[in-house]
Amino acid sequence: MNKKYQRREVIKLMGLSGFSLLLPSCNLSNPSETANSPLLNEDSIESKPQLKKEEIFDYFKSENVSYLKKEDPQYPKNNISFNLRIQQEPQIIALCENTMGVQEAVKYALENKLQINVKSGGHSFEGFSSNTGGIQINLSLMNKMHWENESTLIAQPACLLKELYDETLPKKRILPAGSCGTVGLAGLTLGGGYGFFSRKYGLSCDHLLEATMIDGEGRMVKTKDDPKLLWALKGGGNGNFGIVTELKFKTQPAPKGFTRHRFKAYKLDSNRAKDILATWFRTSSLLPNHAFSAFVLNGKTLTILLTHYEKTDSEIESMVKELDKVCDKTSRGGERDLAKSLKTYYGVQEPIYFKNSSAGYYQNFQEIENYIVEILEKVIGGKGLIYQINTLGGNIEDPEKESQSCYPHRKFGFLSELQAYWDEGRNPEKIISGFDEIQEIFYNKGIRRQYRNYPNLKFKEWESAYWGEDNYKELQKVKMTYDPNNRIFHPQSIKPLNSV
Ligand SMILES: Cc1cc2nc3c(=O)[nH]c(=O)nc-3n(C[C@H](O)[C@H](O)[C@H](O)COP(=O)(O)OP(=O)(O)OC[C@H]3O[C@@H](n4cnc5c(N)ncnc54)[C@H](O)[C@@H]3O)c2cc1C
Repeated sequence: MNKKYQRREVIKLMGLSGFSLLLPSCNLSNPSETANSPLLNEDSIESKPQLKKEEIFDYFKSENVSYLKKEDPQYPKNNISFNLRIQQEPQIIALCENTMGVQEAVKYALENKLQINVKSGGHSFEGFSSNTGGIQINLSLMNKMHWENESTLIAQPACLLKELYDETLPKKRILPAGSCGTVGLAGLTLGGGYGFFSRKYGLSCDHLLEATMIDGEGRMVKTKDDPKLLWALKGGGNGNFGIVTELKFKTQPAPKGFTRHRFKAYKLDSNRAKDILATWFRTSSLLPNHAFSAFVLNGKTLTILLTHYEKTDSEIESMVKELDKVCDKTSRGGERDLAKSLKTYYGVQEPIYFKNSSAGYYQNFQEIENYIVEILEKVIGGKGLIYQINTLGGNIEDPEKESQSCYPHRKFGFLSELQAYWDEGRNPEKIISGFDEIQEIFYNKGIRRQYRNYPNLKFKEWESAYWGEDNYKELQKVKMTYDPNNRIFHPQSIKPLNSV
């Protein structure tokens, strides 16, 4: 990152927010020498005939895929992940043009026994879309969209959210999704996907009608032939069964305008922060479904965001009044153009150093009331931490949606997240240890459910934390159907049955 960001600036730039291994470089002149992946048994690797130097680039280009190696000038640009904390070095980046290209690249990886990871927008908190020594299936060229009819959108996986909004809003349609402009549509949808519009319409994954996938065996499959696969992709599809190459969504009518109110409180101590938090929980749990709110504690400074896109109901008025009483500054907004408003939440566009993770789902304030002061003290006292809680609930809770997807947290009206950002060259060890201490407190107090799209390598029992035990078992069955040999792999990918 060339530009230095102040923490206050970062949280603004991150919009709603969200929000390894460095092995010695490989000698890529001979694929057989570096084909071992952390996943595979090296003994099983067959040796391949060595390619002559002049053959390499021919061999590594086809009509539908460019196979980039470290020496290729295009490699560095395609290897960057949004999170600069994570440095990885795949042996090959397969830059795919289309579904056929993805199929070819998967077959190439299978033949060469390479670990397969898939990258769409590259925003994974923990680097799950790449690896060191294996193949990264890079979908960044697959970012086209077209309409099947006036409400059904067919999108390629690497459409970014800003491209999605640019496509849908002029047609007065919207797909409920996140706020950050450079997040990839596939990664977001396959892990759930929430944002300003989810309480009214549901999650991004609830809008997925069909998908096409190249599975871990290199076969092209379509969810219309297997409803169970569609169920699994709605919240459990990130880097687990195969590479999703096309997504068909139903869209919703876009609201005409968008209104935002903001409240600030400064120089907080933990008791005052707790009192404001209690007010926030009480008032936000009464909000109509077209409203959304976020409580964002950044050190000693609190920002509360309240947005809505229909008329100002009495519950919104009463939240504004109550927050106005307990906060130091209130900025009431008027209705603005939707597209312009959403752009103000697109956040940082270029990669940055950060550590973010889910910090648990809550049903209400009572669940955390007895010990939240301890957490708030750590955020207020420990330099560099941001603790954010967002409202969920509303139509996310719809039982029909629950039965149609493996996203299991619908009864939880609140999702929290921890964030830390730093500049290049800074040692983040202290911030991250404060971060881990907070996670440990939540875990010990029984906050065990976590959002799949905000992963943390340190989560214990991550399988049940992301999906619940019953859904995880079902997802393992789906894994057995589409990737029984565990070719699509990252540290928290679904394991085939009977594997450790
Ligand atoms: C700045 C920021 C803001 C965010 N804001 C929000 C928000 O408002 N709402 C929200 O819900 N989430 C938000 N997130 C979290 C975001 O949803 C996840 O990070 C998401 O997984 C990113 O998707 P991606 O395609 O950009 O990432 P990638 O790193 O490309 O992929 C993420 C995961 O999905 C898998 N994957 C990607 N493409 C495919 C595919 N085609 N087939 C199968 N698996 C695939 C990858 O293997 C990886 O495991 C935010 C994250 C960041 C960093």
